[in-house]
Amino acid sequence: MRVSFPHMGVLTLAMKSLFERLGQECLVAPPVTQKTVALGSKHSPELACFPFKATLGTMIECLELGADTIVMATSNGNCRLGFYWPAQQVILRNLGYDFLMLPINYDSPLGFLAEFKRFGGGSSWPRVLAAFLFGLRKLLAFEEIEAISMRTRARERTRGDSTKAYRTALRILDKVTSPGELGAARRKAVRRMREIEVVSDRKVPRVKVIGEAFMLMESSLNFQLQNTLGEMGVEVERSYWLGQRIMRAIRLDRAGRKHAKWVEREAYPYMRYPDLCTGSQSIGEAIVAAKEGYDGVVLLMPFTCAPEVLAQSLASRVTREYDIPILPVAIDEHSDSGGLRTRLEAYTDLLKLR
Ligand code: SF4
Repeated sequence: MRVSFPHMGVLTLAMKSLFERLGQECLVAPPVTQKTVALGSKHSPELACFPFKATLGTMIECLELGADTIVMATSNGNCRLGFYWPAQQVILRNLGYDFLMLPINYDSPLGFLAEFKRFGGGSSWPRVLAAFLFGLRKLLAFEEIEAISMRTRARERTRGDSTKAYRTALRILDKVTSPGELGAARRKAVRRMREIEVVSDRKVPRVKVIGEAFMLMESSLNFQLQNTLGEMGVEVERSYWLGQRIMRAIRLDRAGRKHAKWVEREAYPYMRYPDLCTGSQSIGEAIVAAKEGYDGVVLLMPFTCAPEVLAQSLASRVTREYDIPILPVAIDEHSDSGGLRTRLEAYTDLLKLR
C-alpha cells in the first residue's frame, strides 16, 4: 500500500506520522501549486466548490507519483463535503486510475478509528489507538507553534523572524517518529518560538480569520493570508483549529465545547441551521470576535461555497450591529495573490485608522 492524501496545512504532517505508525508507506503530496489547481479544475464540474478542484488536482498528482490509496476527509455536514470522495472516485476511475479510496469521517470519532484499523492491515485496537493519539498530539503541537507565529509576526523586531522560527520548530516536530520523543520535541519547538524577539508594546490591530476550514488551513490556497496580514502588522487568530475540533469531538476539550455553544447561540438569530453548517459558524464567530474585542474579521470562502455565501450575505448586518469591519475574501482558481494583497492593504489601513 502506498498511501497519500490531499494537503490540508499541518494536518498533512500529522497524517504522515499516523500512517507510518500503522506501518504504511506514505507518499506526501507535492505542494499545491497553480498547476495542481488547474489540473483539478480541468476535470471537475465547473460549479464544484474550489476545495473539490484543488483536492482532485492533488489526488491526480499523487496517483501519477505512484500512490495506490487515497485518504479523503468526509463529514455528516449539510454541505457538499460528503459528496467529494464519491464524485472524485468516479472522476479518477473514468480517467483510468486504479486505486483504493478511503473516506475518513471526522464527525464520527469511532467511525474514523474503525477506518484506521481497517487501513492498518490487521493492527490491534491498542496499536490503532496509539497511532491515532500520536498523530493527534503531533497535530496539536504543530497548531500550537503556528498559533504562536500568528501572534508574534506583527510584533517581531526583525522582519521574517517568526516565519524562520516557525519553519525550524516545524522541522523539530516533523522529525519525531515515536510518542516517547514528542514531549521533549514539543518543548524544544515552543522554546524556539519564544526566542523570537518582539516589540511587546507595539500597538497592532487584532483580526480573526474565519470561514471554510480547508481554505483556513491550507495556506497555499489562501495565498499565505495569515503571514501576509502578520507582515502588514496585524495580529491574527483563526477560528478553526482541527486539533481542537477533534479534541472536542472526543469530548476532551471543555473550553472548546463552551466556545462552540457560544458561537451557536450568537448565530441563531441570523441563521437557524444546525451547527454543522459552516456558514452559521462563521456568523457566530464574527459576532463572538466582536464581543472578544477583535478589531476586524476576514471571512475566507471558496467560490461557490453555499454556506459561506449565506454568511457573506449576513456579514454587513453583523458589521452594522456589532461595529466590526468584515472583509469577505472569495477564492477560486482564477484568484491571484496581487489582487488579494491590495485588498488586505486597504483593509489593514482602515483598521489602523479606526
Ligand atoms: S463548506 Fe463550502 S467549500 Fe467546503 S465542502 Fe462545503 S460547500 Fe464546499
